[in-house]
Amino acid sequence: MSPRRLFVTTALPYANGKFHIGHIMEYIQADIWVRYQRMQGHAVNFVGADDAHGAPIMIAAEKAGLTPEQFVAGIAAGRKEYLDGFHISFDNWSSTDSPENHELARQIYRDLRDNPQGSLIETKTIEQFFDPEKNMFLPDRYIKGGCPKCGAKDQYGDNCENCGAVYAPTDLINPYSALSGATPVLKSSEHFFFKLSDQRCVDFLEKWTQGNDESGKPRLQPEVANKVKEWFSVRTNPDGSKSEGLGDWDISRDAPYFGIEIPDAPGKYFYVWLDAPVGYLASLKNLLEKRGQSYDDYIADPALEQYHFIGKDIVTFHTLFWPAMLHFSGRRTPNNIFVHGFLTVNNGEKMSKSRGTGLDPLKYLSLGMNPEWLRYYLAAKLNAKNEDIDFNADDFMARVNSDLVGKYINIASRAAGFIAKRFAGKLGEITADGVALLGNLRAQKETLEQLYESREYAKAQREVMLLADQVNAYVDQNKPWELAKKEGMDARLHDVCTVCIEAFRLLTLYLKPVLPGLAVQVEAFLNIAALGFSDASSSLGQGHRIGDYKHLMQRVTPEQLEALFEAPAPVEKAQAATDSIATAPGGEKNSAPTVGADASSLPPEGAGLALGRPGGEAIAPTISIDDFAKIDLRIAKIVNCEAVDGSTKLLRLTLDVGEGKLRNVFSGIASSYQPEALIGKHTVMVANLAPRKMKFGISEGMVLAASHGDEKSQPGIYVLEPLPGALPGMRVR
Ligand SMILES: [Zn+2]
Repeated sequence: MSPRRLFVTTALPYANGKFHIGHIMEYIQADIWVRYQRMQGHAVNFVGADDAHGAPIMIAAEKAGLTPEQFVAGIAAGRKEYLDGFHISFDNWSSTDSPENHELARQIYRDLRDNPQGSLIETKTIEQFFDPEKNMFLPDRYIKGGCPKCGAKDQYGDNCENCGAVYAPTDLINPYSALSGATPVLKSSEHFFFKLSDQRCVDFLEKWTQGNDESGKPRLQPEVANKVKEWFSVRTNPDGSKSEGLGDWDISRDAPYFGIEIPDAPGKYFYVWLDAPVGYLASLKNLLEKRGQSYDDYIADPALEQYHFIGKDIVTFHTLFWPAMLHFSGRRTPNNIFVHGFLTVNNGEKMSKSRGTGLDPLKYLSLGMNPEWLRYYLAAKLNAKNEDIDFNADDFMARVNSDLVGKYINIASRAAGFIAKRFAGKLGEITADGVALLGNLRAQKETLEQLYESREYAKAQREVMLLADQVNAYVDQNKPWELAKKEGMDARLHDVCTVCIEAFRLLTLYLKPVLPGLAVQVEAFLNIAALGFSDASSSLGQGHRIGDYKHLMQRVTPEQLEALFEAPAPVEKAQAATDSIATAPGGEKNSAPTVGADASSLPPEGAGLALGRPGGEAIAPTISIDDFAKIDLRIAKIVNCEAVDGSTKLLRLTLDVGEGKLRNVFSGIASSYQPEALIGKHTVMVANLAPRKMKFGISEGMVLAASHGDEKSQPGIYVLEPLPGALPGMRVR
């Protein structure tokens, strides 16, 4: 069989923030598959890129005082640390703002517009939400409201994170501007649409999503195909009426917009989701051109296979819009879309594209935790289904320590010393029982290949550990440490230790897609070339000299896991709490729900009874005036205040800080104030705190309030109010 040619991608991360553990899980899932294919001798191009366009980045850049280009360059510069850190073997990392993507997106658009069977692009004048305070059309992501399909609150204007529905912002229930808090008004504008409702698209997509792939098997995962099927039936129109079938897709946005200008349409830009998947091709093109290869030739090869690994939150874009864009612009469609679920941490919060907390990947690395522990653990949990998986700290420690180290690594450590000391590093002759054992290991090769190919990694890891169990049973039966003490047992000791080393080589081969770094160390120790799957049938052989055994892998310690999940240090903790709680300086004991357990181990006590503990807690360590100056405190007017549906702790404050726009801040003061009582009052807020996304929306700062250190015995939260005369925007120094 000639080598397969594979083009593999992961979803493009939005360039407005760092990677979270959900991204890393997807990259590990794809990387294991890619490494497996490479170990089969197949030719893989594995690419990623930053999704750089769109209004959120434009607005974030403006806030940071940067151009959008500078802003995304800063984000891109931080990517390598994560990708190298977790051994992700991308061949290329590019950006959707690259020249290749500008060119390809515009060409795909022209090909859709000029389709010889009839254009798939049309323009319509539509009414769109306009923010009367910010004086601009509101990007989808800056209009929020209730999902028209499932009713979930505070969903974005383009799709629902709760049920996955895709809709127009005008479909939202009770929309509001996330920039100003104002109720948006409708204003007309000419927009460009991709005619997804065209019968050609409907017919093609029904067949593509519900039908079989080139090998005759259903293309999409069954649970994904079923989900997609819903989109061919009933949808809700902006006017509330229902329609059958797919709706047309609005692909344009009005200036100001950071994106790619639509050909022959000055002032109109591609909606970010039009050019984002084109970024897959653009990154590939960028890679091939760097190598001096022809992109056109590569992509035209009918034998080329194209696969996209994505999360379940972006299925619609990848199973409807993307294949339709490719097909009707005369391009090849992906062979498949591999959809995974979300990663939760300690049964906690979901790690979607836009929400990521709980297990910080860089913190993991900075604690000296082995990236391959995480790769192994995730592999031991991942299957081919679109299912959520959970990272559980105890389970993580058990699997790494008892399976990976206890069952697998120990095989080498128990045998290598004897080979070195007693047999000059050379392997010996293997007798019948060893031959039989190694035969069992070799016999599982095809099963493991099928499991890796079909992304059933959990089953593959289980199979490998069962094989390791067989090897360990053999070791326990033969007890090399006892053979070593007996006269005349040298040949058997040599035999048993040789079997262990040969077995260790096979197990390493089977684990190599998951543990690439460890495999390199093992290859050096065994004095062999890089292992591929075809090497399973061969052996090191009698007389092969192995190198010195060096310790290959440590165990996870409880201290490491404790540190990994430790609440942030007090300063950060107060910041982390701001979106959900009002807290006076040092008052982080009003622990926000997101922060979790009260970090204080101090016993409860009466107010002022303990010397040196005013208000129930000690004064924080001294800081310099420069430290204080970093905190930008401003007078804010509370222009609105309301209860938060679904929360008994929070109030939603709309604050005027004199910036010409309003801020949305959540504060954990609902136990102490009726919302109406605060409207019109002035208070003090931390104005330069990083915005934080919460379950109920984005919190853009923090309001100052006082409370006692022991909230239970001394309840009450008191929002700060300046003396009369202070105006919104004045700095507190
Ligand atoms: Zn919904």
